[in-house]
Amino acid sequence: MAANPEETHTLLETAHRVLPGGTFGNTAADLIIAHGKGSRVWDEKGNEYIDYLLGSGPMIIGHGHPEVTAAVQAQLERGTTFFANNPQGIELAAAIADAVPCADKVRFASTGSEADAFAIRLARAYAGRSKILKFEGGYHGYSDYGLMSLAPKKPGNSAVPIPDSAGIPESVKEDILVAPFNDADAVESLINEHKHSIAAVFMEPLQRLIPPRPGFLEAMRELTLANDILLVFDEVVTGFRMAYGGAQEYYGVVPDLCTLGKAIGGGFPISAIAGREDIMALFDKDRAEADRFVPQVGTLSGNPIAAAAGLATLEVLRRPGTYERYFETGEKLMSALSRILEESGIEGQVVGAPPMFDIVFAGGEVRNYRDTIRGDGAKMPRLNELLRDRGILKGENKYYVSTAIDDTDVEETIAAWGDAIGELAES
Ligand code: PMP
Repeated sequence: MAANPEETHTLLETAHRVLPGGTFGNTAADLIIAHGKGSRVWDEKGNEYIDYLLGSGPMIIGHGHPEVTAAVQAQLERGTTFFANNPQGIELAAAIADAVPCADKVRFASTGSEADAFAIRLARAYAGRSKILKFEGGYHGYSDYGLMSLAPKKPGNSAVPIPDSAGIPESVKEDILVAPFNDADAVESLINEHKHSIAAVFMEPLQRLIPPRPGFLEAMRELTLANDILLVFDEVVTGFRMAYGGAQEYYGVVPDLCTLGKAIGGGFPISAIAGREDIMALFDKDRAEADRFVPQVGTLSGNPIAAAAGLATLEVLRRPGTYERYFETGEKLMSALSRILEESGIEGQVVGAPPMFDIVFAGGEVRNYRDTIRGDGAKMPRLNELLRDRGILKGENKYYVSTAIDDTDVEETIAAWGDAIGELAES
């Protein structure tokens, strides 16, 4: 669908006229995606890409999946939002409760950030304490609390709360504790120091692309249980991706609460807070004591179109063999990328897991955020650009794999890597 170049130019001009920086804030202004199908997307100029950006994760079964499209079309005919319980939302909640080990009960919001904000508040209300312990480099949405110490540019000697945005009040620092990922001793000493004021350890079980070291999640479970602190897994990325039951199924460590997003909406805005019955009861005004009740409302919460798309996506993911094939594809890609990188002589390594991975341009073990920012920061944007020229679209620091990636996509991706990394090595 090659658009005429003048039209593209006009769109870009309009974008610059009406959007700060010419963008929605997510990606560069000049990336205007016109449509997507299966494993691929096309930009407004008609360029085709194998898509590893994947809408930042939701399109796990590929773009325009016929079963998702049919489910959405059927629901469109029946109405698009009601601000009331609806069959699709109830069924999606039941599918989540069946799949996710910690999910006795489920509530919906629209974005991952909202789900995280509700989970933070719920944990505080339950515990009657205000501090949240998070990990440096972990992302929990855009709220004032979620956006502390995500990507400190100049981290000091030890992990401390640093706001990642202007406009976050200084007072927020009081209620956030920050530890290095994969360092159980650091968590233990923070807990010992502050145990009577910590409501929850709030974490991505696989942080960005950094897998937990063996025993780390178990240690978090034990420490939190021993100190009456809640363990919350942010599974916005890992939910229904690391396994059908998420990272908690994959790693076999069950938190008290979790948040979900991305995959559960099949490309539409829906997210969830899920967890233990007695904690989730604080969302129920008939069960919670008045001073512990947490109102949880949202205009589009449980939206039937999003729920229909999510249900269709989960149905596809549940089919026998899906995760085996998905992981095989990811493993093929990861090992090819490692080999090409090694042969190029560029210092670096592939980190992550088969559903999502990328290169860290540094040697040595990658245990935490600081290990990911060692190395040459200019290489990644340069390589991303070389890859985009060769029909590979990805996020700044991540390849998200979809189940729609087939052998041809894998071959073409490997060829593009060979070419682009070869050029990077020469430059
Ligand atoms: N938590 C994690 C782990 C995420 O990766 C993201 C988004 N990338 C969020 C929360 C926030 O989700 P959203 O962008 O839907 O608000």
